[in-house]
Amino acid sequence: MALGLAGWQAIATAKLPPYAAGLQVLLLGGLCLSLGGLWQAWRQKLAASERYQQGVQQILGEAIEAMPAGFELWDKRDRLVICNQRLREQYPSLADQLLPGAKLEDLLRQSLQSGAIQAAIGNETSWLEQRLARRGHQEQPVVEEYGGRWTHIHERRTPSGFTVGIRLDVTELIQTQQALAEAKAQAQHDRQLLERAIDAMPAGIEIYDEHDRLVMVNQRLANWQPHLYRAGAYGQTFESLQRSAQQADQLPQEALGREDEWLTQRLALRAQNGDRQDLTLLSQMPGGLWLKTSQTRTPEGFVLMVHQDVSDLIHKEQALKASQAQLQAIIGTAGVAILTIDGGGRILSCNLAVERLFGYARAEMLGHNVSMLMPEKERQGHDEYLRRFAHGQGGRLMGQPRELQARHRNGLILTVQLSVSEVPEQAEKLFVGVISDLTDRKQFEQELQRVNEQLLRLSTTDALTELANRRLLMQRLEEEWRRGLRSNQPLSLLLIDVDYFKLYNDHYGHQAGDTCLLTVAHVLRNAANRPGDLVARYGGEEFVILLAQTDEQGMQAVAARFRELLAAANIEHKGSPLRPSVTASIGMCSCPPTPGTFSSQWLALADRALYQAKAQGRDRAVSALDLMHDQEES
Ligand code: GH3
Ligand code: MG
Ligand code: MG
Repeated sequence: MALGLAGWQAIATAKLPPYAAGLQVLLLGGLCLSLGGLWQAWRQKLAASERYQQGVQQILGEAIEAMPAGFELWDKRDRLVICNQRLREQYPSLADQLLPGAKLEDLLRQSLQSGAIQAAIGNETSWLEQRLARRGHQEQPVVEEYGGRWTHIHERRTPSGFTVGIRLDVTELIQTQQALAEAKAQAQHDRQLLERAIDAMPAGIEIYDEHDRLVMVNQRLANWQPHLYRAGAYGQTFESLQRSAQQADQLPQEALGREDEWLTQRLALRAQNGDRQDLTLLSQMPGGLWLKTSQTRTPEGFVLMVHQDVSDLIHKEQALKASQAQLQAIIGTAGVAILTIDGGGRILSCNLAVERLFGYARAEMLGHNVSMLMPEKERQGHDEYLRRFAHGQGGRLMGQPRELQARHRNGLILTVQLSVSEVPEQAEKLFVGVISDLTDRKQFEQELQRVNEQLLRLSTTDALTELANRRLLMQRLEEEWRRGLRSNQPLSLLLIDVDYFKLYNDHYGHQAGDTCLLTVAHVLRNAANRPGDLVARYGGEEFVILLAQTDEQGMQAVAARFRELLAAANIEHKGSPLRPSVTASIGMCSCPPTPGTFSSQWLALADRALYQAKAQGRDRAVSALDLMHDQEES
């Protein structure tokens, strides 16, 4: 193979040495025959040798053509001696020129000009210089791109100074390698991206492989637990990391004092997590950080742990719990009854004051309808109210204190004040009712009213006869006087004085005198019993009947009726100089009030008429009108 075409030609054209030149003449004749035989033999040998050589040459040519690589042989001056067809196929643009005698440099220059050699573009001259300088000294094969194809070139200088080259097309291999490298770079890039994304996540993340060895931990978690996730943590198992944490006193707070037990439980939980898809834990770390950890096992057997910093949430929850506890304490000890009900009226909670107010134990009320605390008549209204409220109507009760009746367990009806508020921002309707017991206050109010009424009655009533007293009389007189002025309606007044009452007292005693006055009062009431009539004790044994909208005639009739009734009462009065029964004298006056006059003047008129009645012999009625007639007559 090291022998080229030139070699074959050299052998073929080799000259024989000129043996025995001096003897040629002498021996020429003798040798002619033997030379002729020798020549003949040599010619035959030569022919055989040529056939052999041709055979070898053909076989070698076929072998070269059969090679799965490009084959080339260059002579000492780098002119092509032989190449196979595959080489021409590898360099199709040069195929026509790959003929014996073609110069390598020419071929290279042509290739550089066409830009087929990628690596040389832009620095063709120096590339060519280096390429030619390397010629024959290149121990290691090179890989070269030519016209978009990659070729593995192995060049060797033969001992005879020829250069033999084998060119293997490795384009597919190179492309595969490139694709692999690209895929690797992409994978590397993806991993970096993933790591950055995981680092940027607002959670601590760690990933363990199927042998529970740490394969990834993000920066956030490393910052939270720097003692644990320092260099060297990768490849360690979860258990060994936890044991390191134990030695560094870095286990969660809940492990304090029971580290071994906690660790055993934690590892057991981790093992169970093989069956369970997810596991969530809440721990407080030594620095005070609250971490919520979700542990998930992937189908590949990897364990993904995500830690979230929930410190803020926990602190808020703790504050909320504290304020709820405070609220509960306030509600529990509050003097007013506080209960919560749902939209259907069911009691959800109640404080001690509710138990005290209604006499039920808490357990007896919870879950029951609040109407159990109401009397029958309130119940129906309440149900209806809730129903209307649920349909967006009503709301009349909301926030407005309302007085209503409630029912104690023992049946006693209580008066309570109820304020209801709807608890805002609740998914389901929730109401808080604040109930104050008004029963005592109500009783007190009623008592006060009764006392006030009594006081009023006492202040306007005569204690002995229970008739209107003089104060009420004067008040009513003023009122009626003004009314009469407006309406021009007549007003009548009778002033009645018991005759010889001093003598009655003297005869029967003061107590009997009181009894007599009571009987006279009774008679007076019967004499003037229309709703507008007022009978009053004016003082001592003197009485007044005030008759609104009553004229002279009506007044005379009342006076006559009184006198009749008194006579009929027949109260014994043995001391009377008139007759042995009680009599009375009446002075009276009837007229519509006129502007410029006063009720006192009018009372004085009645008093004058009474005086006249006394003067005329008592036991009679005298009208102011009679007085005027008398004056006119005299
Ligand atoms: P006359 O016929 O002129 O009216 O004579 P009289 O005795 O009725 O009149 P007088 O004014 O002199 O006496 C009135 C008496 O009425 C004097 C008093 O003792 C008596 N009296 C007044 N108020 C009461 C009372 O509340 N109870 C009793 N028992 N007597 C009374
Ligand atoms: Mg009198
Ligand atoms: Mg009298």
